[in-house]
Amino acid sequence: MAELPPGRTTFSDLRRRPARELPGVGPRIEAGLRELGITSLADLVSHYPSRHEDLSNVKKISDLRVGERATVFARVIDTKGIGRPVRGRSPGFSVTLYDGTGYMPATVWGRQWLQSQLQPETCVVVSGEVQRKYGLQISVKGIEVVDSYNPDEGTAGPHAGSFVPVYPTNRNIAARRLRSLVHRALDETGHILDPLPLGVIESQDLVNLDDAVQEIHFPSTKASLKEALRRLVFHELFIIQAALAARKARTEATEVGRSNAGDGRLLNRFVKGLSFGFTGAQERAIAEVLQDMRLERPMRRLLQGDVGSGKTAVAVAALLTAVESGGQGAIMAPTEVLAEQHFISFTKDLEDLPVKVVLLTGSQGAKERRKNLEAVASGEAHVVIGTHALIQKGVEFNGLSLVVVDEQHRFGVAQRTTIKEKGTTPDTLVMTATPIPRTLSLTLYGDLEVSVIDELPPGRKPVETNVISVAERLDAYEAVGRELDAGRQAYVICPLVEESEALEDVRAAEELHEELTSEVYPDRSVGLLHGRMKAAEKREVMADFNARRIDVLVATVVVEVGVNVPNASAIVIEGAERFGLSQLHQLRGRVCRGLYTPYCYLIAAPKTDDSEKRLQAMVEHQDGFRLSEVDLAIRGEGTLFGGRQSGIADLKVAKLLRDLDVLVEARREAFALVANDGKLSKPENRPLRREIRELLGDEVEWLFRD
Ligand code: ADP
Ligand code: MG
Repeated sequence: MAELPPGRTTFSDLRRRPARELPGVGPRIEAGLRELGITSLADLVSHYPSRHEDLSNVKKISDLRVGERATVFARVIDTKGIGRPVRGRSPGFSVTLYDGTGYMPATVWGRQWLQSQLQPETCVVVSGEVQRKYGLQISVKGIEVVDSYNPDEGTAGPHAGSFVPVYPTNRNIAARRLRSLVHRALDETGHILDPLPLGVIESQDLVNLDDAVQEIHFPSTKASLKEALRRLVFHELFIIQAALAARKARTEATEVGRSNAGDGRLLNRFVKGLSFGFTGAQERAIAEVLQDMRLERPMRRLLQGDVGSGKTAVAVAALLTAVESGGQGAIMAPTEVLAEQHFISFTKDLEDLPVKVVLLTGSQGAKERRKNLEAVASGEAHVVIGTHALIQKGVEFNGLSLVVVDEQHRFGVAQRTTIKEKGTTPDTLVMTATPIPRTLSLTLYGDLEVSVIDELPPGRKPVETNVISVAERLDAYEAVGRELDAGRQAYVICPLVEESEALEDVRAAEELHEELTSEVYPDRSVGLLHGRMKAAEKREVMADFNARRIDVLVATVVVEVGVNVPNASAIVIEGAERFGLSQLHQLRGRVCRGLYTPYCYLIAAPKTDDSEKRLQAMVEHQDGFRLSEVDLAIRGEGTLFGGRQSGIADLKVAKLLRDLDVLVEARREAFALVANDGKLSKPENRPLRREIRELLGDEVEWLFRD
C-alpha cells in the first residue's frame, strides 16, 4: 500500500498472504494448519497460545518433589501403552525419562499419536505435576521433542527464554513446529498498523497492537504479557461494539417509526380482568415498553426474564397499546405448539374486549389460511399470532405497528431483522427466557435496549430437584405417582437424540409411553407428544393436557419452550445427562407455574465431569441467570459463539466472565466514537471501519451502504 511507511503492514494485508508462503510449510503442514483454522499469516499471528511454559523453573529429576509443577529436560528410554483400550483406543501411554540425575516415568493421557514420535534417545522437554504412584512419576501436561536434553545448549530462538508459548495443536504439526512458524510469521510481518483510533488507545492507556501481538506470543515479562492481553481483549470487544453502535446509529438515522401512544382503554380492561396483579418487575418492564412505543423512532427492546416470570403479560400489554393507537400487533413464536397456546390464552384473556385475534400456522387448510390472511390484510384482525417463518413469509399487514418475537434465542441473532411495513418500521419487542449473562447480552444484543424481569410472581416455590440413577428410576416414578394422587399432572421427557436419529426418537418416545401406560401408571391417562405428530394431533394432546384429561404427558423436547400448564407439578427427565444446562432449566421451568411445590427428577448416567457438573448445578441453583453463568464456566467461552447462532465472529481472547469490565469500557468508547462519526467515515476512523468489515463480513454489509 503506497501511503504506508515502509516496513508497515496491516491485518488486511496479512489476511491476504497465505501461510504456505513461509518456508517449510508443505502440503502436510498446510493441512494441519487448516485444521486449526489457520490459512493466512494473519491467522497465524492471531493463533494465540493457550498458556506459556515457564522455563525459568527447570528441575533435575533427582530434585523433584511430590505435588510440584515442574519442567524437566530429559532423554526418552522407552514408551509403553497403559490400561485397556476403550473402543479400540488406548487411554494413553507411559514414557521413561532419564536426565543424568535419575530415571522417572511420565504418564501421557490421550494424545496417542505422540507415542511414535518418542523413540528411544529422543530428547524432550516435559512439564507436568509430580505425583506419587508406586514411586514418583510425572503426570504430563506438556511434552515436546527438542534438540538436546540440556536446556543450556542452544538457548536462542523461539523455544527458549523464560516464557515459551504453548499452542493448541494437532497430530500434523508438532508443538515446536507451530511455535517456529508463529515466530517466523511475526518476523515476516514487520510492524502492524493499529486500526484503533489514537484517541481510544490513549484514553484507555493501551499498548500498541504491534507490541501486543509480539508480547502475547513471546512475552518479555509477566507484566507485559498481561498488558498485551488487556490490549487484545479490548481490541476484540471494541470492534464488535463499534459495529453494534454503528448499526444502532444507522437504524436510528434511517428508519422512521410512528408514535404508538395508547389511551389505555383496552389495556386497563385487560388488567382489571386478570386474576393477579403485576409484579413490580412486570410493571417496570411495561412502563419502559410503553414509553418507547410512544416515541416516534422505532422501539428495539429486549425483554429478558427467567422462565415463568410472566413475559407474556408484558407482551399483551404492548400489543393492546398498539391496537389502541390504531395499529396491528403481531407475535411470533418459535413453534406451532407455542403459537397455538398463545392463541388459546389470548382469545380467552381478551374475550371481553373488542380485539380480534388471528392465528396463522402452516398446518391450517388453504381455505382457513386465506380467510385469516384476508382478515390481516383488511385490518379486521388486530393481533396476529404465528410462527416466525409464517409471519415473515409475505403476509400483508394493515398498519402493523408492533412485532413481538417470543423466545428469541430459538431464532438466532442473524434472523432478528424486523418485518418491514410500508413506509414505517414497526416497534420490535424481543423476548428471551434464555437467561444470558449481562456480558453476553451486551455482546449479542448490544444495539437493543434491555428490560429485565428479575422477579417471579409471588408464591412460586423452588423446585425440589433430584438426580436419580437409572437403577432408581422407578422410585422417581413412584414419587410422581404421589403427585398424581394429589390431583397434579406431570411431564416425562424422553432422552434427547441426535438429529440423525430422529426416527429412533419417535420409537423411543412410543416405547416409553407404552411402558408408562401399561406398567407404571395403568390407572392413569398417559399422553404422548412428539415432533413427528401432525399439528392437529399435537393440538389435541395439548388441549387434553390443559383440560386435565391427560395426567402424564410423555414428550420429546417439543415442550421445551413456553408451554404453560400450571397444574403440572412434576417433571421427569430421562437421559438428563444428554441435555444442555439451559435446556434442562427450560424444561424444569414447565413445572414452576403454579402454587404447589414442584418436583424435578433428573434420571441420569453422567459419563463426563461436565455433565456431572451440569446436573449438580441444577440441584443447587434455581435462578436462570446464575445457571447461565455456571454454564458459561463449564462450557468455556468460545462455544457460545459457535455456529450461526451468534452472527458475530468468534471471540479469540476475550472471556466474557472474566472481561466484563473491559467490555463495559470498550462499549462506552465505541458508542462515544460512533456518536461523533456515525458511519466511521472520518479519515482517522477509516482503518477501524475497514477492520470491522473484514472481521464481521456480511454481518455488517449495511455499514457500507448509503
Ligand atoms: P414466561 O415468562 O416464561 O413466558 P408466562 O408469561 O408464560 O411466563 O407466565 C407464566 C405463568 O405465570 C402464567 O400462568 C401466567 O398467567 C402467570 N403469571 C404471570 N404474571 C403473573 C403475576 N404477576 N402473578 C401471578 N401469576 C402470574
Ligand atoms: Mg413465554
